[in-house]
Amino acid sequence: MNKFRLEKLFQKAKNGEKLIIGFIGGSITQGCLATEPCLCYAYHVYEWWCRTFPKADFVYLNAGIGATDSQFGCARAESDLLAEKPDFVIIEFSVNDEDNEHYLETYEGLVRKIYGSLWEPAVLLVHNIFYEDGRNAENIHGRIAKYYELPSVSMKDTIYSEILEGKLQREELTADGLHPNDKGHALVAGVITEFLSNIMKHATGTNEASDNVKVLPKPLTRNNYENSIRYRNDNCQPEVNGFVIDDSKQVNITDVFKKGWTAKQKGDSIKFRVKGSCIGVQYRKTMQLPAPVAELILDGDKEHPFILDANFNETWGDKLVLDTVLEHGEEKEHTVEIILKETHPEDKLPFYLVSVIACNESCNEFICKEENSILFFTPCFTHNIWGGIKLREEFGYPVEGDDIGECWGISAHPNGESIVKNGCFAGRRLSELWKSQPGIFGKCNTERFPLLVKIIDANEDLSIQVHPDDSYAYTNENGSYGKTECWYVLDCNENATLIIGHNASSRQELTDMVKGGKWNEFIREIPVSKGDFIQIDPGTVHAIKGGMLILETQQNSDITYRMYDYDRLSNGVPRQLQIKQSLDVISVPAKKAEECVIHTAFTQKENCLEELYVCKYYKVFKAKVRGGFSFKKENIFMLATVIHGEGKVNGSEIKKGDHFLIPAKLSDICVEGNAEMILSTP
Ligand code: ZN
Repeated sequence: MNKFRLEKLFQKAKNGEKLIIGFIGGSITQGCLATEPCLCYAYHVYEWWCRTFPKADFVYLNAGIGATDSQFGCARAESDLLAEKPDFVIIEFSVNDEDNEHYLETYEGLVRKIYGSLWEPAVLLVHNIFYEDGRNAENIHGRIAKYYELPSVSMKDTIYSEILEGKLQREELTADGLHPNDKGHALVAGVITEFLSNIMKHATGTNEASDNVKVLPKPLTRNNYENSIRYRNDNCQPEVNGFVIDDSKQVNITDVFKKGWTAKQKGDSIKFRVKGSCIGVQYRKTMQLPAPVAELILDGDKEHPFILDANFNETWGDKLVLDTVLEHGEEKEHTVEIILKETHPEDKLPFYLVSVIACNESCNEFICKEENSILFFTPCFTHNIWGGIKLREEFGYPVEGDDIGECWGISAHPNGESIVKNGCFAGRRLSELWKSQPGIFGKCNTERFPLLVKIIDANEDLSIQVHPDDSYAYTNENGSYGKTECWYVLDCNENATLIIGHNASSRQELTDMVKGGKWNEFIREIPVSKGDFIQIDPGTVHAIKGGMLILETQQNSDITYRMYDYDRLSNGVPRQLQIKQSLDVISVPAKKAEECVIHTAFTQKENCLEELYVCKYYKVFKAKVRGGFSFKKENIFMLATVIHGEGKVNGSEIKKGDHFLIPAKLSDICVEGNAEMILSTP
């Protein structure tokens, strides 16, 4: 169980900070059958915080709505709860959800949405129970608790088991077998606060590294509900024919029949176009009979309508119904048409359509505007025996030393991660965003962020080296990616050369040359000039020579096998060589020199996205901006490094040395100014 966030919260409370204590759940959280709101378990828990930490300033935020489930919870968590940025959240839906896979997914979506919030709230899962028969959704909710290692408390293991043991009479604490009375609420609160007290008592305060989960694991389910959008009359304009907007004011969140549309006449209709793979519809079932009946037609399929019957044969109140009409369908734009089919002259209330909810796997622009802004990064640097000062002197990076070898401009590699500089994701690591904000990146089939962009200043020769491919790296390097890389020559001396490939014609010759140290015979030097592009497939022997400044685009990997280091010393000892691995992975014979180098310097194409190279791992482009131009980008992220000049990209200012990411959904790109950039997409 991950107690870190709770322990951190206790610390903040001790420090006397202002903290928001939030609750989201169904009728029990709302306080149903407590005689006063302040006798609800949630309020008792809030009071415990106030009592325990008298110096702190607590705010009570109750987002409980009776007779609603975690599916609706996903759609309303943002507006009802997260908008206030709660520091502590109790999630309570175990008597509202049922014990099945659908609710496993919706509950996971809700938990992820809250637990994954940027301000990292502490989350406690509370499982209530039907005291009449011991029923609840703890079986599936418990799986989520376990998977995310979230603290949780169960009324099954506590109050209900005391009832079974005869220590408590069910009737003492609930009149209807489900909803606690005042005493019942106090008991539920007692279970929760005892749990919190225990954690507080045993808090070590030292387990930050192991317990601080900033990145959520991959979802357990298909997780279509985390990104739910609720369409109401204040955020969409459906085609209406007889349906009218209800513009009466919503008093509080439990005032659920608001911001929707009503209709009375048979034939009245309303039509939505929504994007997603799961669609739900919310309407009112009323006890005031008779009531109208409507049909919902999905994607024009009149043969198979869904019936939305507003008649409710119950006595406890009108019900907000949420019907799922599409689950895991095609992720695309769907039409949802609702038509009144049956009305009666004695209908007391009109048909009330509350909302249409659409959800999908990827993030939706409606809720994630920030995912459409360009992200700039703070790079990391390495110091190497062959490094120099150009990264500071020519690119202006604030880094000390005269041995600066590499600037990792865009990297999600643990050996040096880029941090976002701007916007609401400022301060976040690229690998975190990769996991928590898939909408930024678009559909990408890799588990890890696929690319890494570097600038390399080789003041002296780099060692002669080779990289493995994916399968070799996977087997021999702890599941790492292999390394395919490419270079764009930013600057070099006159008559510069690079080592690319070798002269061995067989594996035997390769072994003889390498083991015999016949480096001059073995290596192949190729002349290059500024503006050249070089592709280095895995298995290609290569080395950057002193005097070169290179922009490297590569797979997200840091696996290099060094074959020969010119017998140099680093801190008094030679750097380690990996001869065996090198011999394993070197391709024989080497690819022809002219297939590795593409001379682009002379093309001088301006104001366009000039394609330099395409391989399985990346597409690399050059853009020479003189004035400006626009282009359409595919629905996938694009990386860019400014190598010369300055200008703007979609209004954001850019200058030499900037590294940035254009998010997936930004498709119309407009570049202005006098600048040069190297860009890449996976
Ligand atoms: Zn390399």
